[in-house]
Amino acid sequence: NQYLMTDKIRNIAIIAHVDHGKTTLVDKLLEAGGAYAEHQQVTERAMDSMDLEKEKGITIKSKNTSIHWNDHIINIIDTPGHADFGGEVERVMKMVDGVFLVVDAYEGPQAQTRFVLKKALAEGLHPIVVVNKVDRDFARPSEVRDMVLELFLDLEASEEQFEAPFFYGSAKNGFFVGNLEKDEHKDMTPLLQGIIDSVPAPEANAEEPFRMLVSNIDWDNYVGRVALGKVLSGEAKKGDNIWLLRKDGTKLRSKITRVFEYGASASEESAIASAGNIVGISGFEDIDIGETLAIKEDAEPLPFIDIDPPTITMQFSINNGPFNGRDGKHVTSRAIRERLDREVKTNISIEVTDAEHAGVFNVAARGAMQIAVLVETMRREGFELLVSRPSVITKRVDDKLMEPFETLYVECPDDALGGVMKSLATRKGRVDSMGTNAHGSTLEATISTRGIIGFEFELLNLSSGHGIMSHLFKEYAPHCGEIVTRKTGALISMATGTAMQYSLVPITERGKLFIAPGEEVYEGQIIGENPRLVDLSVNPVKEKALTNHRSAGKDNTVTLPPPLAMGLERAIEYINADELVEATPNFLRIRKRVLCPNERKRSERQSKSVEANV
Ligand code: GDP
Repeated sequence: NQYLMTDKIRNIAIIAHVDHGKTTLVDKLLEAGGAYAEHQQVTERAMDSMDLEKEKGITIKSKNTSIHWNDHIINIIDTPGHADFGGEVERVMKMVDGVFLVVDAYEGPQAQTRFVLKKALAEGLHPIVVVNKVDRDFARPSEVRDMVLELFLDLEASEEQFEAPFFYGSAKNGFFVGNLEKDEHKDMTPLLQGIIDSVPAPEANAEEPFRMLVSNIDWDNYVGRVALGKVLSGEAKKGDNIWLLRKDGTKLRSKITRVFEYGASASEESAIASAGNIVGISGFEDIDIGETLAIKEDAEPLPFIDIDPPTITMQFSINNGPFNGRDGKHVTSRAIRERLDREVKTNISIEVTDAEHAGVFNVAARGAMQIAVLVETMRREGFELLVSRPSVITKRVDDKLMEPFETLYVECPDDALGGVMKSLATRKGRVDSMGTNAHGSTLEATISTRGIIGFEFELLNLSSGHGIMSHLFKEYAPHCGEIVTRKTGALISMATGTAMQYSLVPITERGKLFIAPGEEVYEGQIIGENPRLVDLSVNPVKEKALTNHRSAGKDNTVTLPPPLAMGLERAIEYINADELVEATPNFLRIRKRVLCPNERKRSERQSKSVEANV
């Protein structure tokens, strides 16, 4: 029973907008395959992404779930939803032959899933549309079907893809059918059979010697690094001695310590890596994405698939502000370092190095969003830390300063297009092509990674939340010069204490406030925005003199506008290089790097003279 025939395997990716029922669906499929029957308690739902991913509507790591059904294996691979993960999406698409599009029967397809679906269609995958939650009030499955077909047209689906099978049902109630009126609402069988019937078996050759391309990296507490990928030929099992053909041409021999199959309960000891199956293999400590595993030393390495290089770096440091330790429980440099080391093990797209100063770490990643997710997770775990504005990783080639550039895709309503074009021009982006679709305008641009920082926020503002974007690393090219996107200065507190209504009222005449009366503030904290490009020192903690009877009650009648609340992502993209975000479990503050005004002046003068010398 161990040897799995390639034609019994189906590999599919799953695309779903958050909350449309992906987790429930995969769970029910596992259950239908009997995964939960004989095993102990299920500790973790198969595709239960972190709460945070849920909240943000994204999935960070692609995971694999294997469903055994009727002597078949169906591997379902999750796709990341956010723009920072374009490369990972492409790697997933190369491993699979079909794609599940899960759509809510009331809401219909959502903008955020368009880019991933577009890639899936362009890759020639066979789609299966799953219209979920037909039990919902106001469910409108046939309208949703039309919406999906319209989307397929927009995304230039082939004729064959346009004929994709549709299944309607309810993951919660455990049934799917091809025809909602005629078919009996019974179980998951029609959907499982649909996968077997409409998705081709993987292309793989069981007769040839074992080869696998590493498409992702996972981490297991017992065996360490796990290489995930599709077996292209042959088979391998625990105990086999195999070769790792590395990117640099070197070869390494090691024993397979475990073959992972991602069912409901972590892995099957007896799993065999058979041709066409998607498995995890442990035994190599230093294995990386794009490398080949092979039984034969002289095997041809598989064509290398690119991993997006980290293009952005941010500094994490201990909270050295006056409120340090008030809110969080992990505040030391060691605690932060250990936490980051742990992250690096499971999150291959993040790199951590020590900065020049003690207690400061450089965290490199594919995008600001990715790092923001990490900071948010750490806050929830009780960490306090300071984070800098993201800066891009530059290189020198033949004495020329080079920086990363990306291909940026934007879709927005027509009336937002003018604003978007203007913003892209400010950011020194070059529009390569434009078009239209059912949702409005589309455009593709080449822009520096630096130019993308903060653009998503602007796009959402310009398009009342309807614009969407995605970006993919393109190349390193000559630095394109200064880009200034923030045209405002800071209102800086000159004192530490409790912010008073009395003193905030006159400050609102200067600009927008980030804080409300009653909040604790400190010297050097940025409490608001000056519409002009200079920093202003203000005193928000001054109390009204008690003798001043005349104006008593007057300031109480003035209502302050609600403070401008910035989320973490927005805050890190908003700040300038000489500013920091203080992230603690319950507070987000923006501050000057140097809190004391005199020292700040001195360090400004120093950095100016450094610039003058360059
Ligand atoms: P995910 O974010 O796509 O993984 O979605 P989940 O599987 O976590 O489901 C999101 C919410 O939708 C949960 O509250 C589910 O209980 C609910 N849900 C899932 N399937 C159905 C369904 O068929 N009908 C209804 N009414 N709710 C469902």
